[in-house]
Amino acid sequence: MAGLSEIFEKYCQQSTLTGIVLIYFVTCIFTYFAFIWRKVKIPKFPRKILLITAHPDDECMFFSPTVQAETSKGNFVYVLCLSKGDYYKIGDKRTKELIKSCSVLGIPERNIRQVDHAKLPDSPSIDWDAEILQKEIIAIIYGLQPNKVITFDSNGVSGHINHKALYHCIQDICGKNRMPRHTRVFVLKTTSILRKYLSILDLPLAYLTSKRTFVSTPLQTFYAWRAMFAHRSQLMWFRILYLMFSNYMFVNSLQEVCHHGDC
Ligand SMILES: [Zn+2]
Repeated sequence: MAGLSEIFEKYCQQSTLTGIVLIYFVTCIFTYFAFIWRKVKIPKFPRKILLITAHPDDECMFFSPTVQAETSKGNFVYVLCLSKGDYYKIGDKRTKELIKSCSVLGIPERNIRQVDHAKLPDSPSIDWDAEILQKEIIAIIYGLQPNKVITFDSNGVSGHINHKALYHCIQDICGKNRMPRHTRVFVLKTTSILRKYLSILDLPLAYLTSKRTFVSTPLQTFYAWRAMFAHRSQLMWFRILYLMFSNYMFVNSLQEVCHHGDC
């Protein structure tokens, strides 16, 4: 009899676990459709959105849900990429790939500005020159006068020091009150490594932890893949896995860090 009750107890535990997993999965599906079917507010006048990245491919590997959400609202997205991605000395090739990728995401070539400065090399071990970086970014911001600036947060999503440098630069500009008063600044929130590869299962957590979450429709996710495939030189096997499992391919959670110069 003791054996039978043990088996029954085990069965109950397994059923409870299966039930919890099923409920979570259904919640994910429900959250997904709630996101992609929600009414999107279209601005009366198109806004200028400046996306600041460190390398060609950042725009689609990390920011494609944000970019496509903005272009689908009729806003103009501009990309400022602070390097040619020359770590393996194929910068020229990567520049062409960036143009192709942006075109897939709805960003015309004229909206792309790429910086190629010796003090801002694509490198995971060399710190960027903060003064030059700030000069380059401010020149574009003052020229463009964007309504929104979007970049990485302090952890840089992947932890790359070039990504983190962009955050610190933007924070510095905001801290010195040098950001135009009509420009709002947002950063892409870094998620934990576990959440990063949860794919669609991350959605309820993204919803609960951020007020500004962009979720790609299946078609937009397909375009994000196509944009990534434009970066042929970067398509190693682990990047394919990234495309399959990374939450950044279809969900972005943003956080506002500077509004009307009042940081
Ligand atoms: Zn990067």
